[in-house]
Amino acid sequence: MHGTSLPGGPDTQREASAEAVIAWAVREFGPWMAVASSMQDTVLAHLVAKQLPWVDVLFGDTGYHFAETIGTRDAAELSLDVNVVDVRPELTVAEQDAKHGARLYERDPEQCCAMRKVAPMRKALRNYEAWATGLRRGEASTRRNAPLITWDEKNQVVKINPLAGWTDEQVDAYAAANGLIVNPLLDDGYPSIGCAPCTQRVEAGADKRSGRWAGRDKVECGLHA
Ligand code: SF4
Repeated sequence: MHGTSLPGGPDTQREASAEAVIAWAVREFGPWMAVASSMQDTVLAHLVAKQLPWVDVLFGDTGYHFAETIGTRDAAELSLDVNVVDVRPELTVAEQDAKHGARLYERDPEQCCAMRKVAPMRKALRNYEAWATGLRRGEASTRRNAPLITWDEKNQVVKINPLAGWTDEQVDAYAAANGLIVNPLLDDGYPSIGCAPCTQRVEAGADKRSGRWAGRDKVECGLHA
């Protein structure tokens, strides 16, 4: 692990503001920190870029995204002081289909996510000492105890979750106050946005992640759990 101490114990971490956590991370890691973004919104990228202009923003370009998500990625690149890096799998969708059969996401989404999301991001993170993610405790039961800062054993980097304690309302308010682009699907019945084949609309008031891998036990792609 990078030779540093985290800013305070767990209790202090729970209290720290997103800006304070990012300031600490920028001091510790500077350009050796990246931001991960699913392009659901651009709040975290904007927050980090304010303190670390032209930070690398890693976008997991699985080949299965909605057009709206790619549009959000392009708008982020044009409107923010960030360097968007497309993190792509080893195989194109066509190559994966030829090797593993079409629609692997239907038959084995764990393997599909492992090849198209988890492995490419792990490889990309070898270039950094830390990554900042938009993980929030209120998003899912699997994220209820997400710390602000932790050691990411799987990826061998420090993991920073500056928005861990933020509510949906705080995210929306920050995006509105700063005129940030958000994925238009958020206003079209998709409160949580992943790859198109594995993301469905949800009814108003339903669990926000219930449209992800709907009908399966799977709730995470493997990047965060
Ligand atoms: S979310 Fe679906 S399409 Fe995307 S990588 Fe995972 S299984 Fe494949």
